[in-house]
Amino acid sequence: MEKQYADVVIIGGGPAGLNAALVLARAKKRVVVIDEGRPRNAVTGAVHGFITRDGIPPGEFRRIAQEEILAYPSASFVADTVISIAGTNGQFELSTMEGQMISSQKILFAIGMKDQPLSISGLKEVYGKSAFVCPYCDGWELRDQPLVVISKGTVLMHFAPVISGWTSQLTVCTNGPDELTEAQRQEFQHNHIPLFNSPIRHIDSKDGIVQQVVLEDGTVIPARGIFFKPELVMGSDLPRTIGCEFTETGVLAVNESGQTNIPGIYSAGDAASMMHQAIASASAGSFVAAVMNNELNTEAWRRNINK
Ligand SMILES: Cc1cc2nc3c(=O)[nH]c(=O)nc-3n(C[C@H](O)[C@H](O)[C@H](O)COP(=O)(O)OP(=O)(O)OC[C@H]3O[C@@H](n4cnc5c(N)ncnc54)[C@H](O)[C@@H]3O)c2cc1C
Repeated sequence: MEKQYADVVIIGGGPAGLNAALVLARAKKRVVVIDEGRPRNAVTGAVHGFITRDGIPPGEFRRIAQEEILAYPSASFVADTVISIAGTNGQFELSTMEGQMISSQKILFAIGMKDQPLSISGLKEVYGKSAFVCPYCDGWELRDQPLVVISKGTVLMHFAPVISGWTSQLTVCTNGPDELTEAQRQEFQHNHIPLFNSPIRHIDSKDGIVQQVVLEDGTVIPARGIFFKPELVMGSDLPRTIGCEFTETGVLAVNESGQTNIPGIYSAGDAASMMHQAIASASAGSFVAAVMNNELNTEAWRRNINK
């Protein structure tokens, strides 16, 4: 397979990587987007809250983006998984699962995050259809319905008040123990929100729509939707294998320009932020691409001075 040369390789073709590719292609940079096609929102039927694209299926979003990017001659896409990175700033060597070798001056990790397997019986069947993780993404579709929040502790104390803005018919299942103080429990009483600590036995659903949540103690909670927080891991193990640093919350540690602790390697999107939304990822991708382009141009400028 012929080796490819790039100014920037973008690993990941979600909103972050795609917007970065558009900015870099318009800056005349040779940009290669390598994407294995396993975005986190693949489970859902629509991207909401992205102006001009509200409700678009995720696959259609990516198709339009690719079409727009490929209008620029210096951009290309590779459907593959990057498995190794060697070298340093100015000359990184990447290899893929299919045996492709690519040499690149800089790298952008736009690898997103992935859900850990869901451990509650019946949750997989409704995830992305009537069980979601973010009310700003899917709260409108579940508004004024009986909803169950599955969460506990400090996350619950943030999550429940926010979601209560979309429905007055809210029930909390902590799946036990609740990890709350007595004062926090009373906050739920004051807001007339039932709180159950019994472990969840099963979520009953029909065609992906939640019908009821059944607890181990026999309690049955009728519901039409669920909000929960899945455990997340980095979209790829690559950053760890090459020595990137992480924050306490498990995302990539980057400076205000999106650069990781390794010179020449940047990150944008879910992988480097706690704000997990498509438009926020696209915005970060756009910003970091401009930073990378400025750096490439400045480096070329300085090389000419030092000749
Ligand atoms: C159920 C659900 C519903 C959501 N709904 C909405 C919504 O309505 N509106 C909204 O704004 N946001 C929504 N989100 C959040 C949104 O999907 C993410 O914020 C967004 O996709 C993050 O974009 P990203 O580019 O950072 O990562 P991703 O979109 O996850 O893309 C990362 C890509 O990198 C690829 N990749 C990873 N490692 C490698 C590798 N080594 N080699 C090659 N490719 C690799 C992955 O396969 C993936 O395709 C939702 C999320 C979930 C889970």
